[in-house]
Amino acid sequence: LIKIFLLLFLAGQIFAQDFHGNKELLTKAIVEKALTTQTDYRLLEELCAIGPRLSGYPGAQKACRWAADKLREMGCDTVWLDPVTVPDWQRGNIEEAEITAPSKYANRTLQIGALGRSTGTGGKPLTAGVVEVDSFNRIDKMDPALISGKFVFFNEPFDQRMIRTFAAYSKAVIQRTKGPVDASRKGAVGALVRSVTSRDDNVPHVGVTRLDSVVKPVPAVAVGVQDAEFLSRALKTDPDLKITLTLSCANMGTSVSYNVVGEIRGSTFPEEIITIGGHLDAWDKGQGAHDDGAGCVQAMAVMGLFKKLHIVPDRTIRCVLFADEEQKQNGAEKYAARADSLHEHHVAAIESDRGGFTPRGFEVDADSTVIEMMQSFLPDLQPAGIEWIRKGGSGADVSYLKHIKARIGYFPDDQRYFDYHHSDNDTIDKVNPRELALGTASIAILTELISKNGL
Ligand SMILES: [Zn+2]
Repeated sequence: LIKIFLLLFLAGQIFAQDFHGNKELLTKAIVEKALTTQTDYRLLEELCAIGPRLSGYPGAQKACRWAADKLREMGCDTVWLDPVTVPDWQRGNIEEAEITAPSKYANRTLQIGALGRSTGTGGKPLTAGVVEVDSFNRIDKMDPALISGKFVFFNEPFDQRMIRTFAAYSKAVIQRTKGPVDASRKGAVGALVRSVTSRDDNVPHVGVTRLDSVVKPVPAVAVGVQDAEFLSRALKTDPDLKITLTLSCANMGTSVSYNVVGEIRGSTFPEEIITIGGHLDAWDKGQGAHDDGAGCVQAMAVMGLFKKLHIVPDRTIRCVLFADEEQKQNGAEKYAARADSLHEHHVAAIESDRGGFTPRGFEVDADSTVIEMMQSFLPDLQPAGIEWIRKGGSGADVSYLKHIKARIGYFPDDQRYFDYHHSDNDTIDKVNPRELALGTASIAILTELISKNGL
């Protein structure tokens, strides 16, 4: 029996050495291992079970400790937690909006969710009339007299004509990030913002709204798309209707969270670093399964694949789970500042923050010569489903790294992401294990190629 084990062990060694020189075998092994083990999906089940992990929530602390333990178990050479000061915004348990008597729509409630960093109403009802604007830009030209003392209702729809959903999102999301501040500047008492989503549903899709150092913060909420449509119709027949809003959310100052980092040291150029990662914080609606649980577990599972397949990287590979992407991106800022102060040599950083869907490509923020070199990797990435590598944006977190050859964004199919984004519907049942695993395999292959070849 011992002889058999010895033979199996030797066979394993030979196999491990065998595909090290053979790119096709290595790529095949990565894809098959990712698809058969589904380590990423198992990790996602555990992460989603922790509970809401918005910065400042107890779940955020638990998630950091959990991730560090997992990275150690997976065999990373070094694992550390780098403290980050993060906003502590708490939703609380009251968020209600209804149309006030004597309107014919009186007592009709609206599906709402407070926007992140919004001030609350102290749990007390706030009643005011409503002025609708159909696009964010419109508010600039509006007479403050029309706005003063009212709720501004931003009702710009997600542009369904656009094929690229991230572009449609960017176009519409400004009403959420900047609308409430602009409304307050003109005297509004609050802001109601149509949910920025590709889905015709009625769950609020939340997200951060910006604060301004001079402008008074006002309560701001996301409204379900169907209720936004309803409100728009109601205002046409009853322009004087009033809404009563009650919110218990509040900014509680700051809290401490962590960038969770796991590292496998490179054998030939250990000082050259390739970062792969996502953000560990998530909105407290749903489970943050796609945003960005998927990106986190993919980066973690890449580390696991390297260990399981005995791939010794030439360059150092770092899995970084960033703190606080959703509110202030203090985690990304800290990671980049640390890289600068330690004079670290960063070659590439790959971020996965567009959901755990079927692989399509990688968008690269780099010089054209670097992009051309990466495009020569395409034949090795195709077995995982990658179709293209093109110039484009990378990701919110890795974009902070300034002295680096390439900032890279993993780009899966984007048609469903904004159906679930920042809402109760971003739950693990929306994640397909095979699609998630192919993303992990794509990132693992690209990481190994950059580790072997440099950029
Ligand atoms: Zn995200």
